[in-house]
Amino acid sequence: MWGGRGPELRRRGALLLISSALVLGALGVACGRAESVDCGPEDQRGSFLPSLPAGTARLAIDPAFDPISRESILQVVETWNQLGSTIVGRSFFAAQASGGIPRSMPVGPQDCDGVAGSSEQFSVQLDSSDASQPGSRWVSLGLNSSNPAVTIRCYEGSNLQKQVVLINARYVLPAQFRSVVLHELGHAVGLDHSCQMGEGSGDWVGCQGLGNEHPYVSAVMFPYLRMGNGSGLGAVEIKENLQFNDQIRVGCRYQNR
Ligand SMILES: [Zn+2]
Repeated sequence: MWGGRGPELRRRGALLLISSALVLGALGVACGRAESVDCGPEDQRGSFLPSLPAGTARLAIDPAFDPISRESILQVVETWNQLGSTIVGRSFFAAQASGGIPRSMPVGPQDCDGVAGSSEQFSVQLDSSDASQPGSRWVSLGLNSSNPAVTIRCYEGSNLQKQVVLINARYVLPAQFRSVVLHELGHAVGLDHSCQMGEGSGDWVGCQGLGNEHPYVSAVMFPYLRMGNGSGLGAVEIKENLQFNDQIRVGCRYQNR
């Protein structure tokens, strides 16, 4: 939703620097654009999304998740709540069984009518659509097999209207499930990626050219997660802890709120 007016989809292309990686998505369905935040590193000031409203958002966990996945989601919720409590004095999410929030059934990236819930209650949903099948949800959303998950957010002006996190069981490695959910709930909180595809811009640096030790690369909100290359070279990347850069961006997102 940056740099344009009206509904807009931001797509994530293939990663050039890492041969095999998951691309962690955020689709923004916007009738407006988020504001830059005058806080934190200058080259990340444009990296924010509309925040959650005041209070604690109810987060419904799809009953289709298996018990291990459900426990992982609960742990991620606790991770975000601990950070929120420490930095900005609030718990972001209250996890609950799915009751009360209908299933979201978006048929395209602009389909906010297909997203259930409100800014104060949303769901983490299991998807198993096949990206090789034309017409499947993943294809309809503009995603592919390198996208294990997506957070779809709908806005009115610069206010969050509703959102849903979709996790595709076909494309998330079990070892990376918790890492992926941690990243997606970062979008749900109101963070876009720590760096953006391509060259970037003055207030939101591009990911290319950042070294492996760069704090934006080690951040949970970096848009890629290495899967390894299948030949024993390159480890499956795990990111289950929020990093300093993620923390300061949360502080910036919720400053003076
Ligand atoms: Zn993402």
